[in-house]
Amino acid sequence: MCGIFGIEGCDDAANLTYLGLYALQHRGQESTGMVSWDGLQLHLERGMGHVSDIFKEKVIARLPGRRAIGHTRYSTAGSSVVANAQPIAVKTSMGPVSIVHNGNLVNPNGIRERLELEGSIFQTTSDTEVILHLMARKPSADIVESFIAALEEVRGAYSLLLVTDTCLIAARDPNGFRPLVLGDLDGCPCFASETCAFDLLGARLVRELEPGEVVVARNGRVESYRLPQRAEPTRCIFEHVYFARPDSRLFGDSVAQTRLRMGARLAREAPAAADIVVPVPDSGLYAGMGYSRESGLPLEFGITRNHYVGRTFIEPKQSIRNFGVKIKLNPVKELLTGKRVVLLDDSIVRGTTSRKIVRMIREAGAAEVHLRISAPPTEWPCHYGIDTPNRNELIAAHHSLEEIRGYVEADSLAYLSLDGMLGSVSGPRDSYCTACWTGDYRVVPEDRRQAELFPIRAEGE
Ligand code: AMP
Repeated sequence: MCGIFGIEGCDDAANLTYLGLYALQHRGQESTGMVSWDGLQLHLERGMGHVSDIFKEKVIARLPGRRAIGHTRYSTAGSSVVANAQPIAVKTSMGPVSIVHNGNLVNPNGIRERLELEGSIFQTTSDTEVILHLMARKPSADIVESFIAALEEVRGAYSLLLVTDTCLIAARDPNGFRPLVLGDLDGCPCFASETCAFDLLGARLVRELEPGEVVVARNGRVESYRLPQRAEPTRCIFEHVYFARPDSRLFGDSVAQTRLRMGARLAREAPAAADIVVPVPDSGLYAGMGYSRESGLPLEFGITRNHYVGRTFIEPKQSIRNFGVKIKLNPVKELLTGKRVVLLDDSIVRGTTSRKIVRMIREAGAAEVHLRISAPPTEWPCHYGIDTPNRNELIAAHHSLEEIRGYVEADSLAYLSLDGMLGSVSGPRDSYCTACWTGDYRVVPEDRRQAELFPIRAEGE
């Protein structure tokens, strides 16, 4: 997962991109970077850490120009090192090009091996770099043609922004796995992973890019092209469940309202004899509110979150993950003592965090803990850019509901059904990717290495 932002034709493009990235910080906290074009050359700044840590005033001053793109990263392909931080910037025979990517390609290794055999030298281990190599090998008078030709070879999930010496280009893969929206800031086209970035800038949301659409912003005009590949849209519904910010609009729905509906449906599907609903902040807040409204049980903020640490899951080291929950969450004993608690969260992945939270609530004096999850059991890893571990580590892949309940030490456990989740969004059911719950991978990974790591569902499973 990553956040991307870009703007074309605006004074102070880097400053605006900085603000856009700041609003997209939740999409990746490992590294961040920006590229600007000043009419003569590309300027690149990137580093490991949060947007506000890397982009101090003097760093932004080194990014002049009226065209810029930026990225917040958490790695799902390629290791967590600064060489893999984006944007990636290169020189081609068509001129300088820089790229940012949200998503995961499913066939980069095969392409990379082929190109390396033919003499290409890669600078990173990130899947994104293959797109630049493919472009460099098929130069065209119009760089948009070269970009579209490169995208014909890659498969998987990509929302991309590209800066060249003449234009800013945005593209969304034919399945539309990851979001990407077009905005307008006082006549300047801008692009962002989520609408919350536009809210901060005061930009107007024009529309979401269509799956398979390429939008070129050049000389104050916006042109739209289509990728030749066709696919049924499969937008990532986990963006709604967990990833996106609640104040964003995504795939035509408000994220907050979708989560409220998920919580309300969960209350109908899995009521609990309890006194209060306590959401796990921040992932469970809106679903918790929905559960509370529907069940009539009061919503209590029985857990406080320290907001100044990254999402524990994203920290790459196991040692950090192990004590992450204590760094991040603390119970409010006064609200929990003697109470039968419905504990609301959006997902159980490995189960380790959930177990710690249940214990924490109980040690704080809760009489009972009824864990409710506002999505179905996560049984399959994501190939399209969500950082889920391989299948062996997913607790729901190998354990029954009762076994999971026992492991997390809850008095009861229930998940929202697939129907309940899909019924909470307004789009047609099959226009969403549900692979992490169903194993239905609509774009089958081609790379052996990736397929071994993330096995595909066998017949009858
Ligand atoms: P665990 O009990 O260890 O499986 O952790 C569950 C917690 O991880 C829940 O609070 C989720 O909101 C959170 N979570 C789920 N998927 C992800 C992800 N891809 N990245 C970061 N956190 C996640």
